[in-house]
Amino acid sequence: MSGSGGAKVNVNLLVMPAGLRRKIEAEGAAAYPNECCGILIGRDVSGRRLVERLEPGQNVFAADERYHRFSIDPRAQLKADREAEAEGRVVLGFYHSHPDHPARPSEYDREHAWPFYSYVIVAIAKGKPADMTSWVLDDKTNQFLAQKVVAED
Ligand SMILES: [Zn+2]
Repeated sequence: MSGSGGAKVNVNLLVMPAGLRRKIEAEGAAAYPNECCGILIGRDVSGRRLVERLEPGQNVFAADERYHRFSIDPRAQLKADREAEAEGRVVLGFYHSHPDHPARPSEYDREHAWPFYSYVIVAIAKGKPADMTSWVLDDKTNQFLAQKVVAED
């Protein structure tokens, strides 16, 4: 069963184990005042979207823009796709941090988002992890819908 297949997934919910959440928070704090970014890998099973591991990415955006922009190397994305497939998993989405900004997608984030994927944002306030949110682009309205992030269901 592939993540983009016909199976109906509850996109209102993202299951993120506490250990992985802490990892994203730590990466965000370490990258501060720049943005960290990476790939969420896991499975859509029985209608739930479960993150099982992370693939930290390099922010390949120009150095003087990394405080408010992120971009993951397309080769790293391709590699993550292949590795996930070999493990019976899929790329579920991406995460990045918002240094000293709320955990809400920017207009830039929305314009660069694809349907299906979960976009996790962690706010880093003065170097310390704050809120974590997740968003999915609605392919009809082209707007982000909030996904609830839970440690387990
Ligand atoms: Zn952003």
